[in-house]
Amino acid sequence: MSVEENLKPSVILVSPSELEEEIKKIEEEIKSHEQLDVDSFKKIQEELNSINKAISWLRIAESQGIWKSKTCKHVINDSCNAWNISDPEKVGIPTDVISFNQDGTKRVVVSKFPGLCIACPLYEPKRS
Ligand code: SF4
Repeated sequence: MSVEENLKPSVILVSPSELEEEIKKIEEEIKSHEQLDVDSFKKIQEELNSINKAISWLRIAESQGIWKSKTCKHVINDSCNAWNISDPEKVGIPTDVISFNQDGTKRVVVSKFPGLCIACPLYEPKRS
């Protein structure tokens, strides 16, 4: 089994704004159910609080990814030249953020997809 095949089940791409939309929908749904008992309401509220906490962490991770994508020495013409992603869809990277090169390599345009940088072990700051 290749590294990418191993990765697929563990890769989940979540956008904080998508999660926030989901929370809004849930909150509106709760308000519409006035007969909801107090215990159920509390449980749902607790779950919403933990989702909100997760969103805060995602926002921090997102900002780290953006910062790394702007300061990493491996970025050339907005793309990361350290990784060659042979099968982007398999690892959850949308194809519209991939730069297909003549030598057959597939590079991620990190200015469009800074999520790749969040936990990247190859980060090195640019030297000026
Ligand atoms: S942090 Fe990693 S993924 Fe991001 S540009 Fe640098 S090497 Fe590429």
